[in-house]
Parts: sequence; C-alpha cells; structure tokens
Amino acid sequence: MTALKGRCLCGACRFTATPSPDHPAGVCHCSMCRRWSGGIFLSVACGDSLEFEEGAPLLVYDSSDWGQRVSCASCGSTLVWRTKDRSMNQVSIQAFDDPGQFEIGMEIFIDDKPGSYSLANETTKMTGAEVMAMFTPKEADQ
Ligand SMILES: [Zn+2]
Ligand SMILES: [Zn+2]
Repeated sequence: MTALKGRCLCGACRFTATPSPDHPAGVCHCSMCRRWSGGIFLSVACGDSLEFEEGAPLLVYDSSDWGQRVSCASCGSTLVWRTKDRSMNQVSIQAFDDPGQFEIGMEIFIDDKPGSYSLANETTKMTGAEVMAMFTPKEADQ
C-alpha cells in the first residue's frame, strides 16, 4: 500500500501513513479507548510509517507504561494510539480521507464492550487477556 493522507478536524494536524497490508483495521473496546475517542476507536496499524507535518500541534497523553494517545491540541480530534518508542502506530481510520476503504476485521478487548452496541460484520475477536498475552514475553522463555 502507498502512503495515505489524513488530518484532524481543524486541519492543523496533517499526516501521511502507510497501513500495514498484514493487518485488517480493527476496533478496541477497552474503557480507555472509549473514553478517549468518545465512541469506538477504529484504527489501522501503520507500523512506524506515520509522519506528521512540521508544526502540527500534537497533544500527547501517556495512558500506560508503554502507550501514548495523540490528539490535536487545537480541535481535540482523536488521531493515534502509539507505543512510546513509536515503533507501532494505530491510526484512526476516521482521520483518513476515505475511511470506507478499510475493512473492519478485528475487535479487541471484546470482554470490555458495553452490551448496548455491536458491529454487524464478521470479525476476529480477542479478549483483553488474549491481547496482553500476545505482547507479554512468555515466562517459560526467561
Ligand atoms: Zn485539529
Ligand atoms: Zn483500547
């Protein structure tokens, strides 16, 4: 895939990013993503390809020991969840010019999803524990 353009609501934060062809776009239903985004955070993995235009007024919030949430400091738009080392950027599909191009194939922290809504399309679903296990080094290897 080639680099795609995106921006926040007011246009002060503009970026390019290249979605990883190996991962479908997905939803995180955890309480932090829901509070932060004000909805459901639909994002696509862009590896370390994300680049903001010079001077973009980014508001960066440390939400855990390893993760950060990036919003526009001017209009408040939800833009990116990233690891602190910036090797992994999950970019909001809503910030891209054509969000409809992304297939939503994944739902994580499914056990944190309120019962009041659900997606109609078929997805791969993972619980919070399954997601954490994927990123935590196995004790047996130590
Ligand atoms: Zn903005
Ligand atoms: Zn989340």
